[in-house]
Formats: sequence, structure tokens, C-alpha cells
Amino acid sequence: MPMYDYQCSHCDTTFTELHGSDVFLKDCPACEHATLERQFPRGIKAVTDREYFRGKGTLADQFAGQERELEFCVANAQRQGYRPSIHDIYDPGLALCKGDKDGFISPTGGRAQVKRRVAELTAEGPIPKAVKLAPDIIESIRRDRIAENPDLAHVNQRELRESIVDKHGNPDIEE
Ligand SMILES: [Zn+2]
Repeated sequence: MPMYDYQCSHCDTTFTELHGSDVFLKDCPACEHATLERQFPRGIKAVTDREYFRGKGTLADQFAGQERELEFCVANAQRQGYRPSIHDIYDPGLALCKGDKDGFISPTGGRAQVKRRVAELTAEGPIPKAVKLAPDIIESIRRDRIAENPDLAHVNQRELRESIVDKHGNPDIEE
């Protein structure tokens, strides 16, 4: 899970919390005003574009050994109208759900894109834009699950689909 720094604009208390990217704390633990401001996710501030991209490699490098995960993320981004390039990187801390198109950062967008995204996330407040899973993606995950565990063919399929939506459609993408 990403770490987030918070600062209270009322009493200047600062602290760090570990939580999913869809969580936005509002209430200051010190003065109890709803005046917390979430700062940049850790590790993103104060780096150059080159430093930000260095070592992250291509999407294929990032998802090495997790091809299905990569396919899932790319398919979800495409469904939202964005076609990730192999030169993009994917930053789960910037995504509201797995494969959120806004979690993809292009080399030309670079750090400016990351900053804009962080500003958007901060401005969006506590209600994340839930991105629904496309039925064909749910269906393909359902078939994969059954292939891995044939017993699942005998459970209530509607509940199985719902559990897939709960797991993959949930904005909290960190494992
Ligand atoms: Zn405070």
C-alpha cells in the first residue's frame, strides 16, 4: 500500500498513513477539524522525469510474470478510452481502481502528468469514481477462476460474478 503524508491546514499537524489510493482522510487527529490535506504519495515528489522513469522499465517489465494482470489493466484502460503505450509506466498509487487509465503515465506526460494526477486525486475528495468492470472482463475472469478451480463451476454463478466485481472492481488496488 502507498504511504501518504497529511498536513492539517488548521493546526499544521503532519503525519503519515498507509492506505489505499481511494482513501482520503479529512479529520485531523490533533485538532479534530476536517482540514487535512493529502500530500504527494511518497516517492513521487521532488524527482525529475528521468528519475521517475528510471528503473521502472516498460509496462512489460513492470508486470513481468503477471501477464494476466497486465492484460487486465490494459483492457480496463482501453475501455476508458486510453490505449497504454509500452513506454508508459503504471503507478497503482495514482489509480482509483486496477487498470484505471489515470494510473498510466506516459514518458511525454512525465512528472507534470503525475503532479496533475495527484492534484486531481486530492481535489476529488473522499468519493472515488468507481470504474465498473466490463461484462466481458468479468466473464473472462470467471472462466479463468473455474479453470483454476473446477469446483467453482458448481457454486452460484451470480455470487461468483459479484465476488469478482468486489475483488477487481474495488478501487483499492493494492494487495
Ligand atoms: Zn489539525
